[in-house]
Amino acid sequence: MEKWKTPVNSAMQSLMRPAILNPLFADVTVLAGVGPKIAALIARAAGPRIVDLLLTAPAGLVDRSFRPKIADAPMGRILTLDITVDRHDAPPKGRRLPYKVICSDETGYVTLVFFHARADYLKKTLPEGARRLVSGKIEDFNGARQMAHPDYIADPDKPGDMPEFEPVYPLTAGLSAAVMRKAAAQAVARAPDLAEWQDESWLKARGWSGWKTAMQALHGPRDQSALSLLSPDRQRLAYDELLANQLALMLIRKARIKSRGRAINGDGRLLAKAKKALPFSLTDAQKDALGDVFADMRAPERMVRLLQGDVGSGKTIVALFAMLAAVETSAQAALMAPTEILARQHLETLAPLAAAAGISMEILTGRDKSAARAEKLARLGAGEIDILIGTHALFQEEVAFRNLALVVIDEQHRFGVRQRIALTQKGPKPDLLVMTATPIPRTLSLTAYGDMDHSRITEKPPGRKPVDTRTVPMSRIDEIIAGLNRAAAKGEQAYWVCPLVEESELLDLTAAEERFESLKAAIGGERVGLVHGRMSGPEKDAVMERFYRGELAVLIATTVIEVGVNAPNATIMIIEHAERFGLAQLHQLRGRVGRGDKKSSCILLYKPPLGETATARLKVLRDTEDGFVIAEEDLRLRGAGDVLGAAQSGFPRFRLADIAVHGELLAAARDDAKLILERDAELKSPRGEALKTLLYLFSRDDAAKLLSAG
Ligand code: ADP
Ligand code: MG
Repeated sequence: MEKWKTPVNSAMQSLMRPAILNPLFADVTVLAGVGPKIAALIARAAGPRIVDLLLTAPAGLVDRSFRPKIADAPMGRILTLDITVDRHDAPPKGRRLPYKVICSDETGYVTLVFFHARADYLKKTLPEGARRLVSGKIEDFNGARQMAHPDYIADPDKPGDMPEFEPVYPLTAGLSAAVMRKAAAQAVARAPDLAEWQDESWLKARGWSGWKTAMQALHGPRDQSALSLLSPDRQRLAYDELLANQLALMLIRKARIKSRGRAINGDGRLLAKAKKALPFSLTDAQKDALGDVFADMRAPERMVRLLQGDVGSGKTIVALFAMLAAVETSAQAALMAPTEILARQHLETLAPLAAAAGISMEILTGRDKSAARAEKLARLGAGEIDILIGTHALFQEEVAFRNLALVVIDEQHRFGVRQRIALTQKGPKPDLLVMTATPIPRTLSLTAYGDMDHSRITEKPPGRKPVDTRTVPMSRIDEIIAGLNRAAAKGEQAYWVCPLVEESELLDLTAAEERFESLKAAIGGERVGLVHGRMSGPEKDAVMERFYRGELAVLIATTVIEVGVNAPNATIMIIEHAERFGLAQLHQLRGRVGRGDKKSSCILLYKPPLGETATARLKVLRDTEDGFVIAEEDLRLRGAGDVLGAAQSGFPRFRLADIAVHGELLAAARDDAKLILERDAELKSPRGEALKTLLYLFSRDDAAKLLSAG
């Protein structure tokens, strides 16, 4: 078993982490004023450990440094007054009436107002005749200035009783700003002095401070510019995070390469036969990608390659050729798809080519039961099946290959890293080719897939007609339905997508069902189908197959058709509430049409008014069909957090870095990490030791462990 696969054991983890970091990895309950209840709230807002507080940047700032005279004090803005306490009014009679303290400076009067006040306490904090600083907002009450419940009352002779600047942290229901602020301040106070892990000359060139100073500045902003993602201190800390990310990915990648794979050197005989049976020749982009893959397979190291290419760019054939090369060496290959129907489509398109090459290709899915399944498994174990196509079913324990040399995974996003690893454990270190149709901006793929090599298919097969893309307001939906009816009468097929927003799945389902009814009425009950996320796999597949076979004219779907179903005759894609989708998603959906030789169209129905960003996003989609351009624009327009979406697993969530803003730093971090490991592969130098600490600071124990294990 290779080291990089070993699950991280938390007890081990704390043993290996440098002791100097231990205070930061303590539970927040060790902080004053944080009991189990508040700890749970802090865990929700920031995380359960002290380091999580450190890595949570303030979202805002309260500035109490504004100190006008009473006569000049504006209403509604936080300010601090330097006043003398004149007198306390007699305590009020009714419980609902406020307690009042009259104060002044040389320009005028202000009344401090307290509800449910305790007179003895107020007498002590605001003794008559004393000078005090009070901070809060002034309001007008019947022409008199008053300040209700000042945020602070401080003695001017005791500086420090009132902070001039207060960071405001992201909160959660039940967690007060003051409690969070106090907890964060304690976390910062616990930040140890750590040996510098950044290159001194790089820090100097950038004008960046040391880690601790930058951390203190992050949590002690004194003006708005300190909150900016581009402030020097924030950049320094973001760079730390990015460097930890890149270093970790490179260490993992190196460990994997060290774990030798096998050299797969096909003789080309099967490839030649399949090529002859192919009705087209490969595009240059496909040839380049194949060149990368073959070079990897021939090398004794293990291949771990990501193949990105738009929907319809022809990734499947690249996968087939790679698999044939494996079979040429008398080994086996597996192709895993995320759904049953996709697995079947792969089989359908690839079977004739497999037959032409004279090899045996089979499919294994959840539908295979008892006897038939046992028979397939026996043949697989005996090496009588050369290429096995399937779904998650390929992961199951009993599935044993005789000699699995190559694993291809289609539509990467649907599988977790763990599944990826499970399948590669089914052979003696098989090569791995992962294919995704979701173009990922370069910067993002560096952070998410930095441990893989990358190939991109940026060109589409010849003869594709551009999809006519239009944006249409919802108010014109009747026209659209009428047009759809005419197209259906002519035998055209259309997808109609209703968005599924997670928070109210039921509501969305209702919307889709209503659309289903109205389209059935307009087009004919037998000719319209509906698929949605609450249907079982086989139910969904049955409807999609009817569409695929041309029995249905319109397929209404929540986003389940997003993943590569291929219905080459479909020429119309209608997307309702297009403004609610991510650009990448819209692009993927559009990619479902325009696959055959007929002219296709895509209608983006939106609900006005559209904001500036939404307008810009839909325009990008009208202007280009290049998924990589769209992905970059999406990142630029929405920022990294939104592009990734919380649901998309596999992407690291950065705490201090923002890829949309710090892309340039990421590129630098990548170069830096490369250089560091070239010079000091085991991180043994003093700077190397400091970098190890950096890895643990960002919880990259998985990568750090690879080092000390030697
Ligand atoms: P992807 O998996 O990248 O979305 P596919 O591999 O399913 O795309 O290919 C889409 C379609 O394009 C298929 O019908 C395939 O046969 C066809 N195709 C692939 N490569 C070429 C090519 N070089 N020339 C013409 N057609 C191609
Ligand atoms: Mg595909």
